[in-house]
Amino acid sequence: MGASGLLMPGLAEAAGSKIALPPDISNERLITVTAAPTQRHLVAMTFDDGPHPTLTPQLLDILKARRIRATFYVIGRNVARYPDIVKRMVDEGHEIGNHTWRHPFLTQLGSNSVLRELDRTSEAVYKAVQRIPVTMRPPYGALSRNQRAMIHKERDMPTILWSVDPEDWRRPGAQVVANRIVGGARPGSIILSHDIHGPTIKAMPAALDGIKDHGYKFATVSMILGQRDWSKMRWRLPREARAKS
Ligand SMILES: [Zn+2]
Repeated sequence: MGASGLLMPGLAEAAGSKIALPPDISNERLITVTAAPTQRHLVAMTFDDGPHPTLTPQLLDILKARRIRATFYVIGRNVARYPDIVKRMVDEGHEIGNHTWRHPFLTQLGSNSVLRELDRTSEAVYKAVQRIPVTMRPPYGALSRNQRAMIHKERDMPTILWSVDPEDWRRPGAQVVANRIVGGARPGSIILSHDIHGPTIKAMPAALDGIKDHGYKFATVSMILGQRDWSKMRWRLPREARAKS
């Protein structure tokens, strides 16, 4: 893929400046991912729907105490409201993924609206932390095969689903959530949770320690897929945009 293919035209247009993906990222054939193809004892914890003003910082404390890096699929309008929490996520080594601007059923939207949901969110993340998500997760996991291919083609973003779902949003109780997560972990698992539910946060110490006791280590989504460490990617504006600013 040539350099121009790495640009994000929709994002550039909306932001009034071009934001380029780093030249070293290549999603290759990763269009839809539910788990990483690895035999290593490695899992990716993912947290959707935040940032939440009080629960997300509590979760960050829990992760920090264990030196665990996770991936946050953030909602754009929450990023615009709580940019400092997103900054803290990045400062502490976590990866940010795109979970749309207002959490709609994307299957009910046309391509332009889908891309707008993603671009507005990437812009908000860029504004907060001067980098952009390289993967997306559709709300409710709802995205057609054609839409997944369209997003991959237009924005070079793989759709990241999951292989372990504790159904924490049904609030079955912290212990049940922890047991489901620990019991479900396999090499390469991508584990779904939501950092907007109190019982989920309460479940995390037991869930994380349980996974670790089974011999697993934690990675962000990009890392578990064998890509560059998102936190170490170099982000740059093309020359013409730098000149303008
Ligand atoms: Zn969600």
